[in-house]
Amino acid sequence: MATIFSRIIAGEIPCYKVAENDRFFAFLDINPLAKGHTLVVPKCETDYIFDLDDQTLADMMVFAKQIAAKIKEFSQCNRVAVVVLGLEVPHAHIHLIPMNSENDVDFRKEKLKLTPEEFANIALELNK
Ligand code: 5GP
Repeated sequence: MATIFSRIIAGEIPCYKVAENDRFFAFLDINPLAKGHTLVVPKCETDYIFDLDDQTLADMMVFAKQIAAKIKEFSQCNRVAVVVLGLEVPHAHIHLIPMNSENDVDFRKEKLKLTPEEFANIALELNK
C-alpha cells in the first residue's frame, strides 16, 4: 500500500506544496513546530533515509538546501534545522524547521495550529 506521502505526491491527499522536481517533493508539515516547517521527501518510496542510494541521498540534500534558503528568507530565522527522526510515516523525509535557538526544534513542544489561509500564504511565499 502506498505511504501517505506517496499519496500526497500523487495528489490523492491535499497538501500545501512548497517545491517539486522529477525526483523530490516538498510540502508544509501539517503539524508545524514553526511557520515554514517543511517536509522534503523522495518520490521513490523508501522507508529508511540511509537505504536511499548515494546519489539520491546527495541530490535530496541539495534539493532541501534550495528550500532552506527560501525558508530562511521567509522566516528571517538564524538557521534552518535539518532533522530526520520519527517512525510515524515509513517514507524517508527531512524536516526543515526555522530556528533561532535549539528549543525551536523540540518535537515534544505543542505544534502550531494554523488556519488553511495561513498554510496557503506560507506555501505561496515559499513558492516565490
Ligand atoms: P515523523 O515520522 O518525522 O515523526 O513524523 C512525520 C511528520 O509528517 C509529522 O511531523 C507529521 O506532522 C507529518 N505528517 C503526517 N501526516 C501528514 C499529512 O497527511 N500531511 C502533512 N502535510 N504532514 C503530515
